[in-house]
Amino acid sequence: MIYLVEHFFSIQGEGRYIGVPSIFLRFGGCNLRCPGFGQYEVEGEIVSGCDTIRAVDMAHFKKSWQRIDMLGSLTEIIEKYLEPLGYLPDIVLTGGEPMIYAEDTVFYALIEWLLERKFRITIETNATLAPPFEAYPAYRDVTFAMAVKLSNSGEPKERRVIPGVIRRLANEANGAFFKFTLDKDLIAGSGAREIDEICRVFTNEIYCMPLGDHIEQLRENAPDVAAFCLANGYRYSDRLHVRLWNREEKR
Ligand code: SF4
Repeated sequence: MIYLVEHFFSIQGEGRYIGVPSIFLRFGGCNLRCPGFGQYEVEGEIVSGCDTIRAVDMAHFKKSWQRIDMLGSLTEIIEKYLEPLGYLPDIVLTGGEPMIYAEDTVFYALIEWLLERKFRITIETNATLAPPFEAYPAYRDVTFAMAVKLSNSGEPKERRVIPGVIRRLANEANGAFFKFTLDKDLIAGSGAREIDEICRVFTNEIYCMPLGDHIEQLRENAPDVAAFCLANGYRYSDRLHVRLWNREEKR
């Protein structure tokens, strides 16, 4: 049994496939909390945590959490988006942390169904949970966008950086890449050292994005992140959806 929080059709806003038309399925639940990523007022209460808090905090957002027990509930959603299109968009499975469902029957059936139909699948993950590739080999044909959390997430290092998991995703899946979120303070402090340490395991494409779930914050951090990428040889990734639509949900 899995929880779907929302679905939408938009452009990919971040990372390797930035700009590519994509159907997004956002699943609820995460094994981390990332208290460093902001505070929000929800129903008069201050909650802290990630920039997709609605996909992590079931207690406050349970109205939008849809329990999914059958593959058909998900394929029906995808087929509706496809109806007016004459092409296959990308599929992005995001969260929350989708890999908490890696061994779920419905979730894995979705991966197989999508691959049979030749979709390119990206799973956006915090890279702390690897699927058992031997028992679930379809994950080898998925791209993992590994958004390993840095110290600005507020999570202790031993929870957010699991080198064995990063190594498995990097070596066993189809073209994993890194995606880090940085702000000015982290760049001025330990950002370069933290990324260097994490990427010793795997040095493929490394994207750095500005912290910013709204346009002002994005603008504030972006120039420093761009300069940081130039200085260190990393790839700058913007957050196009925030540039275009600011805080609108389902974008
Ligand atoms: S790992 Fe990602 S989804 Fe999970 S709490 Fe942190 S920012 Fe949110």
